[in-house]
Amino acid sequence: MKKFDNNYDVLVIGAGNGGLVAAATCANKGLKTLLIEQHNVPGGFASSFVRGRFEFEPALHELGNVGNDQNKGDVKQCFDNLGIKIDWNLISEAFTILIPQEDGTQKIYKIPYGRDEFAKACEQIEKGSYEKVKKFIDICENCYFAARYLRESRGNPDVEIMKTKYVNYLTTANSTLDDVLRKLKMPKLIKFIIEAYWLYLGTTPKDISASLYAIMFYEYIEFGPYIPEMRSHEISQTIANRFEELGGEIWYNTKAEKIDVCDGKIVGCQTSRGYIKTNHIISNASPHIVYGDLIENDKVPNIERNLTGMRKPASQGYCVFLGLDISAEKLGLTDYSYFVVNSKNHDEVYEDMHDIDKNNSYIVVVQNNGCKSASEKGTCILSFTTLYEDAWNDVKEEEYFDVKNKIAKRFIENFEQKMNIDITSHIEEIEVATPVTFARYTGSKNGAIYGYKCYVNDSAYVRGKNMDLYYTIDGLRFCGGNSHFSHGYSITYISGEVAGNKTFGDIKAKQKGA
Ligand SMILES: Cc1cc2nc3c(=O)[nH]c(=O)nc-3n(C[C@H](O)[C@H](O)[C@H](O)COP(=O)(O)OP(=O)(O)OC[C@H]3O[C@@H](n4cnc5c(N)ncnc54)[C@H](O)[C@@H]3O)c2cc1C
Repeated sequence: MKKFDNNYDVLVIGAGNGGLVAAATCANKGLKTLLIEQHNVPGGFASSFVRGRFEFEPALHELGNVGNDQNKGDVKQCFDNLGIKIDWNLISEAFTILIPQEDGTQKIYKIPYGRDEFAKACEQIEKGSYEKVKKFIDICENCYFAARYLRESRGNPDVEIMKTKYVNYLTTANSTLDDVLRKLKMPKLIKFIIEAYWLYLGTTPKDISASLYAIMFYEYIEFGPYIPEMRSHEISQTIANRFEELGGEIWYNTKAEKIDVCDGKIVGCQTSRGYIKTNHIISNASPHIVYGDLIENDKVPNIERNLTGMRKPASQGYCVFLGLDISAEKLGLTDYSYFVVNSKNHDEVYEDMHDIDKNNSYIVVVQNNGCKSASEKGTCILSFTTLYEDAWNDVKEEEYFDVKNKIAKRFIENFEQKMNIDITSHIEEIEVATPVTFARYTGSKNGAIYGYKCYVNDSAYVRGKNMDLYYTIDGLRFCGGNSHFSHGYSITYISGEVAGNKTFGDIKAKQKGA
C-alpha cells in the first residue's frame, strides 16, 4: 500500500479549469504538487453527464483564444507548453441572433467570425458600418495584447510601454462597452449585434467594462469559436492525465476544510483525507469560500475581506438539456448557437432576468452542429441557457421542481414558435440545471456561473495590474473565474498558468533568500 505522504511544495484546491492548469504548471516546473477535488471527477463546470444514450455538455458553448498552429491563441500556447493535446472542432459561425421587430415578427442574422468577415457582414446589414466595426475590432486587438503583456509582466508593467503601445486599452479601462460603441457612432442595429455576447455574462453593455468585453470579443472573432470533440470532460480529463504524467498527485472526493495561516503565512491545510503540510496553496475555490469558510476570521487581512465583500457574484445560471430522437437537420436547425432576445433593448432583457416568469431571453446550442458525432445518427442534443439576477433566491423548496420545469416548458415552446419547429414531441431525455445545481457541484456562490460581475470599476486593467496587491497572505494564490481576471474557459486556464508560474517564482525567491 502507498504510504500516506502529507508534505507538498504546493497544494491546489479544486480541479476546475484554473486548478487543473495551475497544478500541471507547477508539476511541469518540478514542484511536488497535490491537487484535491471534492468531487469524483475533474473539471468543475467543465465536465459532462450522461442521460440515456446522450452525453451532455453542462457548460461550454464556445471556447475563444484557441486558434491553430499558424495563429496560436493563448489557450493553444498554454496547452502546447504543457504537452496537452485536444481534438478541437472549429464552429462554422460566430452566432445566429433572432431580433424581435415592432410588428411582432423577428429578423434572423447569421454572424460570421473573422475580422473582415464580421465587418463585411455588418456592412451588409447596415451600409456604412464597415470602417466603424473595423475600428472597434482594432480596439479589441489592442486590449487583447495589452492583457497578454500585463500577464507576462506579472502585474508590474512598464508604464511607458503601456502608454505608447496600449493606448486603446488604457483609454477604455474606465469606459463601458456602451461608451466605446457610442463614441464610434456605431449604428444602432450593429451596436446591438456587437453587444450580443453580454448575454453570456449577465452584465449589460451600460455596466460592463469595455476592455474586458473587448478581450472576449477578440478571442471569439479573431480565432473563431472552438469546442472539443468529447465535451469539456475531454479537456479536463486530458489535463488531469497530463498532470499525473508530470508527477503530480490527484485526490478526488477530498475537500479542503481548513487552511492554516500562521504569522500571515500558509502552513498547511486540513482536508477530509488528512492534514497536508505546505507553504503554498493555489485555490480554485473562490475567495468567498476561502476567506468566508476556510481561513479563521481573525487571520483574514482587511484588504482581502473588503475586496471580497465589494465584488458581486455574477448572474445565476439556468440550463435545459434535451436529447431528441430526430436529427438537427430534420428538425430544421442548421446553425450551432442561436441568441434569442425578447426585446431590442438590452436594459429590458436584463430587467426581465430579475423575474422568474418574465425572462424569455436565452441561448440555444445545437451540439451536433458543432460536433457531428455528438450523438447517434438520427438524434441530436440541444441546450437552452439563460441567466437570472437573484430571482432564484426567492424560490421556495416546495416550489423548486414546478418552477424549474415551468421555465423549461416556456423556453421550448417559445423557441418552437420562433423557429416554427416541433421539439416537444421528439424529447427522449430532458434534464434541467438551476442555480442550486451549479452551486452544489462547484461551490459557486448563489449559483453564479461567471465568477464576479465585470463592472467598469473592476476592469481587466484594474484586476491585471493589482493581482499581487490584492492577495497578501504569504503563499496563497488564486486561480479560476473568481481570481484576478474573469470568467470563461480561456481566461480560467490562463489564470491557472499565471498562478502556477507565480507560485514557482515565490518558491524560488524563498530558496534564494534562505
Ligand atoms: C451553463 C454554462 C455555460 C457556460 N458557457 C461558457 C462558454 O461558452 N464559454 C466560456 O468560455 N465559458 C463558459 N462558461 C463559464 C466556464 O464554465 C467557467 O468560467 C469555468 O469553467 C470556471 O472555471 P474555474 O477554474 O473557475 O473552476 P470551477 O469550474 O468553478 O471549479 C472549481 C472547482 O473547485 C472545487 N472546489 C471548490 N471548493 C472546494 C473545496 N473546499 N475542496 C476541494 N475542491 C473544491 C469544485 O468542486 C470545482 O471542481 C459557462 C458556464 C456554464 C455553467
